[in-house]
Amino acid sequence: MNTRPRILVVDDLPANIGKLFSLLHQKYDVLTALSGRKALEVAQSDEPPDLILLDCLMPEMTGYQVCEILQDDPKTAHIPIIFVTSLDSENEEEKGLKLGAVDYVIKPFRPAIILARIENHLKLKEYQDLLRRQSRSDGLTGVLNRRTFDESLSREWERGVRLGSPLSVILIDVDLFKNYNDRHGHLVGDQCLKWIAECLNEQHGRSSDMIARYGGEEFVCLLSHTDLAGAEKVAEKMRTGLLDKKYLHGASTVSPYLTISQGVACTVPSADSSPKLLLEAADRALYQAKLDGRNCVRLAQRV
Ligand code: GH3
Ligand code: MG
Ligand code: MG
Repeated sequence: MNTRPRILVVDDLPANIGKLFSLLHQKYDVLTALSGRKALEVAQSDEPPDLILLDCLMPEMTGYQVCEILQDDPKTAHIPIIFVTSLDSENEEEKGLKLGAVDYVIKPFRPAIILARIENHLKLKEYQDLLRRQSRSDGLTGVLNRRTFDESLSREWERGVRLGSPLSVILIDVDLFKNYNDRHGHLVGDQCLKWIAECLNEQHGRSSDMIARYGGEEFVCLLSHTDLAGAEKVAEKMRTGLLDKKYLHGASTVSPYLTISQGVACTVPSADSSPKLLLEAADRALYQAKLDGRNCVRLAQRV
């Protein structure tokens, strides 16, 4: 896997890009852009750079404008920007830093100094990325945590309202997990939750679907643009996927192996309803699955 940091160099003069390129390319993957518009395109792509070296004065769109747009967008606000410019004035430097750039380097630059600054900012970025990932995921199982799920649900809900497309949730509860802990011990129980999370992650469908730990031994799957029949298929796949692993459950009355019960609910988001009602419907369906003997999927008839 390629783990070299990616640096985007933005300057309207190819000669300037060339200087930075020859300085950086041995250690970093260098991307280049000759205009602000192109820089935005690269920064907003699915493979964004880890750091941007940005010229201030460019025709059409200035570096300041590029910086402002990137800072305003939550998708790109975390990418550190260093202005590299010939504008040597206190005002300009203050302006760049106030717009959110992490540093301001005046041309002609000293190669060793700019390299050291880049190195420092990349280290900070790596640490910030780690913190952001950790704050989004569940410490035990590594899948997304409840807070991230809640945020995604309200975002997908708003999107569903706008697009008029169905949104589904699956509530997943491990069967007789108290018995499992009592039989195998709490530490094995913890390990088991990791296996289950991994298995659920393998089984759910599109990359836009998400699995999160809902709490305790419960997980939740969020499926955008998915109707009830589609969500039921995913739930069945997760149920049989886990059964196929044959993780022994020494104290289950349902099966010799670990099993899950699931409640599925779907709605086309609208102002008359709410994410809370969708989750409550899935919870009622889950309750029905437990009543019906566990290790099964039940669908909410109404949201
Ligand atoms: P049911 O089939 O009705 O869901 O039965 P259950 O035993 O799974 O349900 P109950 O709600 O009675 O118990 C849930 C158990 O899950 C109890 C709790 O100790 C266990 N549990 C919750 N979180 C964790 C965890 O992080 N680690 C471990 N090892 N166990 C956990
Ligand atoms: Mg439970
Ligand atoms: Mg349970």
